[in-house]
Amino acid sequence: MKAAILENGTLSIKEIPKPSPGAEQALVRLTASGVCHSDVHLVKGDWPKLTPPSPSPFPIGHEGIGVVEALGPGADKYVHVGERVILGLGGLGGAYWCGACEFCLSGRPRLCPEARPLLGTHALYIATWAKALVQLPDEVGDREVSLACGGLTAYSAIKKLVKFGVTPGKPIALIGAAGGLGHYAIQIARTFGYVVMGVDVGREKIDFIKSLGADYAIDASEAAAFVKQKFKGVSASIVFTPKIAGFELGLKLLKRGGVFVSVGMPAADEKPLALHPLALLQKEPLIMASAVGTVEDMRELVQLASQGKVKTHISREARLSEVQGILEELDQGRYTGRAIITDMAG
Ligand SMILES: [Zn+2]
Ligand SMILES: [Zn+2]
Repeated sequence: MKAAILENGTLSIKEIPKPSPGAEQALVRLTASGVCHSDVHLVKGDWPKLTPPSPSPFPIGHEGIGVVEALGPGADKYVHVGERVILGLGGLGGAYWCGACEFCLSGRPRLCPEARPLLGTHALYIATWAKALVQLPDEVGDREVSLACGGLTAYSAIKKLVKFGVTPGKPIALIGAAGGLGHYAIQIARTFGYVVMGVDVGREKIDFIKSLGADYAIDASEAAAFVKQKFKGVSASIVFTPKIAGFELGLKLLKRGGVFVSVGMPAADEKPLALHPLALLQKEPLIMASAVGTVEDMRELVQLASQGKVKTHISREARLSEVQGILEELDQGRYTGRAIITDMAG
């Protein structure tokens, strides 16, 4: 079968053997794979501490929809042959976790000591842990594949607002709202009942944010003045952009005691986010990071998608052989929403 393989910093489409499912694994015949911004960082080697350079070639891609074709020993506890499933659950952040440690039980699976990445959806087949598969109803089509990482990451970030006391009706700012994650976050935050302000850069992205139903769509250059005049500070900021300026803006927009959620992942060599302790004292924000989500989160998100409340906006639909070009365009910020692969053999 063909697969996108990363070897010494170079991505290419290679012929590799079809995998066979091990213990508690399912073999999934993929019908769609989403291209996530993390793929770009992985190929460019932007996160050496998170993903040390691998001496051996490995497959990439971590958002998939497909049909279960075979099961390894013990996998029938979780899924059945012929079922349509979504897989990903955060990719690099870990699609495998124990489900029983203090972190898993408190909704922070990325901190699970058992967490391991899921990679290899840019291929015709993947063998993966059956417990991390979520069944898909027919109403959720293959083009919704990016719910697997992009949608889930946005969903679990917004759920944290509820957990940390930001009640529905409060104004929240989504920074980088027109991107792969942000465009989901607008729709999800609306279903939670927040007053949603989507922030991004440029006319095209602002128009896109409006089209997704945000209450306000504001260019980053005007966001601080707008928030000051309209709300005197937002109750929460969630930052999806990988640009440090977006993190700085998110903090600036917060009202006193607001919740700041860091989601975007800048390259490791970007300058750090500077915080003066006096500014912390003055504002006392609650600062946290959020990545991926749990299997339960994925089930809740699939439910929203099946009701038509969350939809994937697709900028480009391509064949597997076009993945390199997609990564370049993604790196240049050329897409609103997502790019997906729906021809896994081509
Ligand atoms: Zn991802
Ligand atoms: Zn755990």
